[in-house]
Amino acid sequence: MFFVTALIVTLVVGDFGSTFFYHVPQHLWFTLHLRTHHDRRRPYFDHAVLSTDPAVLLDGFLGAIPYIIVAALLWRLSWPGAVAGLALGQLHVWWRHTSELGWRTPTWARALLRPLGIVLPEDHDGHHRNPEVEFGDIFRFYDAPARALLSWLAPTGRRARNAGRRATRRVPARA
Ligand SMILES: [Zn+2]
Ligand SMILES: [Zn+2]
Repeated sequence: MFFVTALIVTLVVGDFGSTFFYHVPQHLWFTLHLRTHHDRRRPYFDHAVLSTDPAVLLDGFLGAIPYIIVAALLWRLSWPGAVAGLALGQLHVWWRHTSELGWRTPTWARALLRPLGIVLPEDHDGHHRNPEVEFGDIFRFYDAPARALLSWLAPTGRRARNAGRRATRRVPARA
């Protein structure tokens, strides 16, 4: 039982931490994740799974830190469960990027995973097509709160700053 608890908590709480303390802040204020994970010049299977580019690996590692912290906290409850959670999380990284390779989730798997809120490759493909949607790397129930947080904090974001800079630059031109 402790095994299952540690496994599930590693994934659910780890994804919570990764979504709200790494993924959303990256989309708002930073560029590393956008330059690497959302690099549209390369197929995303390459930079999500195959690439050994240090910036790509750094993005992956920073995103994994919350899972590692949660797994470490659960170590005494059940270390095999925590390790299994991390391993499943890594498998999910590979799996959720397979749409580009032509993977289509079979109907039975979709019917099984939908009620659990698990991100399917088709869902994560949506995040690569439109980086404004489909947050939550493993669980889709983080998508709505992540988007709410993003729009709430949008005035503090990189995009608002850049728009402000463009607007002030336009003033002398108009004068
Ligand atoms: Zn991705
Ligand atoms: Zn992203």
